[in-house]
Amino acid sequence: MGAVPPLRAIFGMLAIGALTVGVAVPASAAPEAVASSVAATSATPSRTDAASRTDAASGTGAASRTNAASGTGAARAKLALPWLRTSVEQVLRAERARAGLTGTDIPGTASGRLVVVAGSVDAPRPAARVMSVRVEVEDGLPVDGAAFADFALAVLNDERGWGHDGSVAFARTDGAADLRVVLASGALTDALCYPLRTLGEVSCGTAGRAVLNAERWSQGAEAFLTAGGTLTAYRQYLVNHEVGHLLGRPHQACPTAGASAPVMVQQTLDLQGCLPNGWPAR
Ligand SMILES: [Zn+2]
Repeated sequence: MGAVPPLRAIFGMLAIGALTVGVAVPASAAPEAVASSVAATSATPSRTDAASRTDAASGTGAASRTNAASGTGAARAKLALPWLRTSVEQVLRAERARAGLTGTDIPGTASGRLVVVAGSVDAPRPAARVMSVRVEVEDGLPVDGAAFADFALAVLNDERGWGHDGSVAFARTDGAADLRVVLASGALTDALCYPLRTLGEVSCGTAGRAVLNAERWSQGAEAFLTAGGTLTAYRQYLVNHEVGHLLGRPHQACPTAGASAPVMVQQTLDLQGCLPNGWPAR
């Protein structure tokens, strides 16, 4: 994916109420985050050698941080790297599959044709209001529609979701629906979100549709990931944020640096000092 530094500035000047803003993400951002946690839990204690003492003293770099915490020598950490890399790839592949992604090449333009995911699922619990949701995926994307639909509905009905207070629950349908959750290429996202300007990069929630940009769904967003969020957490955020717009929720600002971000903060662009959070109930 090409870097698009000007977008941050461009989006920063847009004053569009129901627009989620995002930028391209370095491919290394997510694996690094996962690699740190895997390394921290899998390192084997060993003798401390000169190399590791040097690393611990300097405190720079992922390997040295792992060494400082575990006492594992730098040489041994390097030897373990191929195994760690395999583990990280397995974790990421499993996360992608759970989100419905069947490939890593997300085209900027696909067929332009939405396919409704077949099937219906009752709301998991009673609520003051049950809203029906139709899930649609653009044909031509490397996506398993059923898996994506399961992921999206699980997020919506999570006890940390919009129905945490018993106000709403979500049922899935493939017929007429109260709202639609759509996974689309950048080009189709732009068309569906118009007149909001998503510029092939970002998502929107408008006109009864939460349109999730497939590139963001796949890669996440730099601001969210560099602030410590995971790709799965970003996907949870994206569903809740865009559906939040359909429930009438406007954007919010980070209330206090270091606080968990309200889900209606535009966390694709800027956490404003808050911590990443994808849930309405914090
Ligand atoms: Zn938004």
